[in-house]
Amino acid sequence: MKNIAVYPGTFDPITYGHVDLVERASHLFDKIIVAVAANENKNPLFSLEERVGLCAHVLKKYQNVEVRGFESLLTDFAQQHQANILLRGLRAVSDFDYEFQLASMNRCLAPKIESLFLMPAENYTYLSSRLVREIASLGGDVKQFVPDVVFEALNKKLK
Ligand code: ADP
Repeated sequence: MKNIAVYPGTFDPITYGHVDLVERASHLFDKIIVAVAANENKNPLFSLEERVGLCAHVLKKYQNVEVRGFESLLTDFAQQHQANILLRGLRAVSDFDYEFQLASMNRCLAPKIESLFLMPAENYTYLSSRLVREIASLGGDVKQFVPDVVFEALNKKLK
């Protein structure tokens, strides 16, 4: 059996924390589908198309990783792609409560799909897309937190 993991998120925008997780996962699973959620209710800074484009660009060196946008229920999306794993990142204890709820709900909806969690490198444990957006919008330098192409896209977007 092949292990196919879906890694869902908003990726608004993709950061080095996300890349760290994909790098780790790329050694563990046969295939990883980075599933970029439309999440229009979150009022994302980048459109779905832009977020998918940035993820695809940043992750192109990983042979077993593909990037797709999705607007449906996550468990439906995973089943459509024959995935048996839902991958999430755990940064700090503060992530745990929400992730526990989400994993439990997803298990009710699709009992055969396992949620698995990976921890990023220590220096990324404080990193989130929300903080990157906030710092960038206030004129702070986020170069150390995001790949160059994302840094340029942020500058262009916020100009
Ligand atoms: P959210 O679901 O909070 O909007 P994102 O869409 O930014 O989160 O991220 C998707 C997934 O990536 C989540 O599982 C999140 O925990 C994880 N993640 C985000 N930033 C990091 C990071 N710096 N290190 C590890 N995992 C991360």
